[in-house]
Amino acid sequence: MMTRAEAIDFFRSDDLIGIGMAADAVRRKLHPENVVSYIIDRNINYTNFCTEYCSFCAFYRPMGHTEGYILPHETIFGKIQETIDLGGTGILMQGGLHPDLKIDWYEDLLRSIKQRFEIHCHCFSAPEITNIADVSGLSIRDTIARLRDSGLDSIPGGGAEILDDAVRHRISRLKCSTQDWIDVHRVAHSLGMRTTATMMFGCGETIEQRVNHLEVVRQIQEDTGGFTAFIPWSFQRENTSLGRFVKEEATAVEYLKTLAIARLYLPNIVNVQSSWVTQGLKTCQLGLRFGGNDVGSIMIEENVVSAAGAHHRASEEELRRIIRDAGFTPKQRDTLYRTYYLN
Ligand code: SF4
Repeated sequence: MMTRAEAIDFFRSDDLIGIGMAADAVRRKLHPENVVSYIIDRNINYTNFCTEYCSFCAFYRPMGHTEGYILPHETIFGKIQETIDLGGTGILMQGGLHPDLKIDWYEDLLRSIKQRFEIHCHCFSAPEITNIADVSGLSIRDTIARLRDSGLDSIPGGGAEILDDAVRHRISRLKCSTQDWIDVHRVAHSLGMRTTATMMFGCGETIEQRVNHLEVVRQIQEDTGGFTAFIPWSFQRENTSLGRFVKEEATAVEYLKTLAIARLYLPNIVNVQSSWVTQGLKTCQLGLRFGGNDVGSIMIEENVVSAAGAHHRASEEELRRIIRDAGFTPKQRDTLYRTYYLN
């Protein structure tokens, strides 16, 4: 496996094509059938109220703000029905950290969804889980177990940003620590639940801090095998307070290099996602030769990165076309990366 020193060397190297080819070799070994997958699902942001004030976030509203909301159940049900009508198989439901919503609120929401719909619930990132545990006076284990028993199927990797406390202290001081993020994912894996790992890079971190992140993720996966995928994103600065300090967003070269190094550093995670949401369709397509084997979601609705200036759109046909044109067979998958659809 790639060492930390090798990863740092690769980040410093200008040999983009060489790094891409090495990552492509790993991708080919793990996915010899030449398939690139995508999912049809929907992001549902049940509340934008949040107490954390992360400087990279343009989505949240402080408590009491007139633009703050909590979605009524009926609105959430309507969004799920639309998702199913469009061939969707899952929802990614996340929200701000609300100080008054205790676990009963989340249990009730999950149960009421599962009573009405057959849909995969990929919900509540690590900061939300730690918040629910805190405001409900529960352990992380009891919180996840109760949510699972109410219908939670898997946990998204959001809130990881860069898993290095020096970076977190600078950009999301109030939000959960590296150790909290690790604890949520390890506990979820130990309860038999699958999760994803994400990384938001380009927020002023050093190369070493980026490698620290990859190391944390690799170590968890070595121990548990619970991650289905690794999903790197680049920081989007528009409308964020961090954007006043980090003036330059990651370029396509930076993105492709980071994607390829992630593929090389994490051979124990089967799927690595090439993102069109932050990078646009063309860079996403190139990412399929830099280690990516999945293009993520059609995303019927997305509110978080679009609030921060990422306004790319894609239809299923467009995604299938960029996949085919890059030399792969497109296949719809579900949230757990099972591509059993006959397409
Ligand atoms: S990133 Fe999440 S925790 Fe941070 S301010 Fe935004 S909604 Fe709140």
